[in-house]
Amino acid sequence: MEALLTVLVTWLSANLDLPPIYDHPRIEMVSAAKMAEVRYSRIGAAQLDRVAAEAGSQALPEIGHDVFAIYDDVGRTIYLPQGWTGTTPAEVSVLVHELVHHLQNVGRLAFDCAGEREKPAYRAQARWLELFGKSLAGEFGLDPMTVLVRTNCMR
Ligand SMILES: [Zn+2]
Repeated sequence: MEALLTVLVTWLSANLDLPPIYDHPRIEMVSAAKMAEVRYSRIGAAQLDRVAAEAGSQALPEIGHDVFAIYDDVGRTIYLPQGWTGTTPAEVSVLVHELVHHLQNVGRLAFDCAGEREKPAYRAQARWLELFGKSLAGEFGLDPMTVLVRTNCMR
């Protein structure tokens, strides 16, 4: 896993202008139930943040967007679904997506909204799939309009 992460960080920094930080995230494989638990607790935290930060932002918590895996900023941990083996382009693309969030986090990149933070993650995931002749729509049922909505600030 460490070797794979190193390769992916190199690829991301070379192709998508992300900081080449090799301080790898923790990786945890979790059950669907645990994934839901983590997601729920993170959404709660994000909503509290939002309230504290003041109303006005329509941005949804980032965590609600990632259907297949979760990145926890605080714990610097990527949660992958149990059964993830990294043997298909689609599985690795999920890791690529969450790794972008890790680089954004440790690189302290700033964003106006959750959607703006998603944009490079989806772009990287799509680019990775393209290397294998695949797409977000084909592998995950994410059509371009859905991705567009998820990766822009709603104002
Ligand atoms: Zn994401």
